[in-house]
Amino acid sequence: MTFSDLGLSAAVLRAVTEQGYESPTPIQAQAIPAVLRGKDLMAGAQTGTGKTAAFTLPLLDRLAAAAQGGPRRVRALILAPTRELAAQVQDSVRVYGAHLPLRSLAVFGGVGIQPQIMALRRGVDILVATPGRLQDHLDRGSVDLSKVEIMVLDEADRMLDMGFLPAIERILRSVPAKRQTLLFSATFAGPIRQLAGRFLHEPEAIEV
Ligand code: AMP
Repeated sequence: MTFSDLGLSAAVLRAVTEQGYESPTPIQAQAIPAVLRGKDLMAGAQTGTGKTAAFTLPLLDRLAAAAQGGPRRVRALILAPTRELAAQVQDSVRVYGAHLPLRSLAVFGGVGIQPQIMALRRGVDILVATPGRLQDHLDRGSVDLSKVEIMVLDEADRMLDMGFLPAIERILRSVPAKRQTLLFSATFAGPIRQLAGRFLHEPEAIEV
């Protein structure tokens, strides 16, 4: 199995080659074709399995394939539990999207909100966010999620452990009902299943 068997575009394959990746990890081999087909995903994966590329690579391809004219709007939203993870995920988005004309931004707490508001105003295609800070932006009206096509919940179990369920519910009410949703979690205890049952549409289940 090689990355080119998975249906990714040349621009994304080039970035993957530049990273020196030779073959997809098991989660990538399963998740990438499903995401490219537009499926919702419920994926069980620990860190270190290559899960970030598993959702980032096909997400970039789907956005690039359906390029939008006009001002940049948030078309993909990735939620992550901590500022460290949000920053790391945005780094991956930037690296894997190096040959695509898409702009990304990470917003998280613990730093000033004003520079984030200005960056959001300049226009972003892919927003990576921690739930608390994103809720803050929604309250201030500094972010518009009405054009989100793909939403990712990364490390969903950790986000629930940290008490982010109300923020996540608020965010999910602010994105269009017609969207693609990808949920990644190390564990699938009751609360995660409930969340998945409420917000995923006929998800493909992947366990590695
Ligand atoms: P993650 O599980 O997303 O935190 O990724 C763990 C590490 O694996 C990261 O440092 C990636 O750069 C690396 N990685 C992801 N996919 C591959 C791959 N297909 N081949 C080699 N390394 C990879």
